[in-house]
Amino acid sequence: MNKPDKTSRRRFLQAGGALLAGNAIGSAAASDDSPRSLTEAAPALHKLLRKASIPAARGARVVIVGGGWSGLTMAKYLKRFNPAFDVLLIDKQSAFVSFPISNSWLADQVSLDFLSHSFFDAANNNGYHFMQATVLGFERDSRQVYTDQGYVDYDYLVLAPGIEYDYARIGVEDPEAQSLLFHRYPGGFVTGSELLTIKRKIHQFAGGNFLLNVPDGDYRCTAAPYERACMVAAVFKRRRIRAKILLLDMNSEIKIKKAGFARAFEALYGDYIEYLPSSLISGVDIEGRSVETEFDEYAFDDAIIYPPIRASSLIEEAGISDQYSPQKAARTDPFRYHLVGDERVYVTGDSRSQPFSKGGHTAHSEAQYVAEVIAAHALEREVDWRSPQTMCFSAVDIEPLRAMSIITYYRFNQQSGQFAFDRTHLIEKWDSQGGQASLAWAEGMYRDMFYS
Ligand SMILES: Cc1cc2nc3c(=O)[nH]c(=O)nc-3n(C[C@H](O)[C@H](O)[C@H](O)COP(=O)(O)OP(=O)(O)OC[C@H]3O[C@@H](n4cnc5c(N)ncnc54)[C@H](O)[C@@H]3O)c2cc1C
Repeated sequence: MNKPDKTSRRRFLQAGGALLAGNAIGSAAASDDSPRSLTEAAPALHKLLRKASIPAARGARVVIVGGGWSGLTMAKYLKRFNPAFDVLLIDKQSAFVSFPISNSWLADQVSLDFLSHSFFDAANNNGYHFMQATVLGFERDSRQVYTDQGYVDYDYLVLAPGIEYDYARIGVEDPEAQSLLFHRYPGGFVTGSELLTIKRKIHQFAGGNFLLNVPDGDYRCTAAPYERACMVAAVFKRRRIRAKILLLDMNSEIKIKKAGFARAFEALYGDYIEYLPSSLISGVDIEGRSVETEFDEYAFDDAIIYPPIRASSLIEEAGISDQYSPQKAARTDPFRYHLVGDERVYVTGDSRSQPFSKGGHTAHSEAQYVAEVIAAHALEREVDWRSPQTMCFSAVDIEPLRAMSIITYYRFNQQSGQFAFDRTHLIEKWDSQGGQASLAWAEGMYRDMFYS
């Protein structure tokens, strides 16, 4: 294996050193936003520049950024396909909280324990290391990942950091306004805290207009915003409050399981859900509590605002995003997932560049394949491409929990040069069997990711 070139780390260390040296001659150049004196920041900077305190690698080290559905599966299956790999999973969160089934949790159909799992259990049960840290960037020349706990060397790097919100695409450009909007009306598609806030909101809502939206573009979990509208309506119905759910869809029609959701909106929640297709959000008045679309303005008493999304900014900041990608996804080989020209760096899960459905099941089946690709690369072998599988349950009613589902695969169309849906099995009739199947599916997935 080639010895990594140390130039980049030197550059990174020199930059830090220069900053500290600059401090020795005073902080005249510091702006009003800088620490009062850079000396005060020195211990923090040293922390960033040192080597992270983790066990020394006992084999080729694979560093995985992001312990979501993709990263957790990747870590487990890398060890399975090549036990000689030293696998390190890094996540900024202290615990895993599942988004799949979280809509059922909002309506009290499962407990928080059902959704929450320990990264330590996953690592201990499957023979890899876990480090709680925020990844700040990486250098491909030196093969190093920089975190708020110090840097880590890698032989292979897997980027599975999920998605970020792109508020500019609903007309909210100012970073302070974006932050305020995120905290006040979280979309509930990126962090566990958002889910806790949303649950409190819907259980305390006193009545009036409650606004939800469906983003446009290739957003995370196509069915989830429609499912969420049903679960919020189910809670309002159970609480017998006078509330109207304004479901602003930025698309021209329901994007998936259309007949099933349309029937649920009408038959179960006719008094609650007002479905508004082609509602392209162009601005949000956070203080005034209203949303602007091309032709209308909608006042709300409370809201869940889910903006369009993009790939993790780690990708753009590293200068590896594809200039033609609307979501700033990386330029990767569509079959092998590595960066074009660099078989040491892979991008998987919802940050991937391929147009596969952004789902946990998709990420899980894909990660098993990519783990095999990386293991094969280390042995100078190849594996045949195989499609990820997407499986998605959508709850529409509670007591009993009733759900519908879809399973699909993908194939590459040589003529168009695009991926398209392949075999698909769609069940749009929602029933309690579907509800039970959704919970059994999730339990099986957690068992696979967290146990051996
Ligand atoms: C309400 C809802 C319902 C859903 N329902 C379903 C469903 O029924 N079926 C289904 O298949 N999918 C469903 N999904 C989609 C599913 O949750 C995602 O597709 C899946 O989580 C994607 O996995 P991922 O690993 O790519 O990203 P994530 O699971 O988001 O994991 C990314 C991880 O990276 C970490 N991270 C990010 N940046 C950094 C950094 N700089 N440093 C360190 N760590 C970092 C994050 O903390 C996070 O843990 C649903 C999603 C939502 C929100």
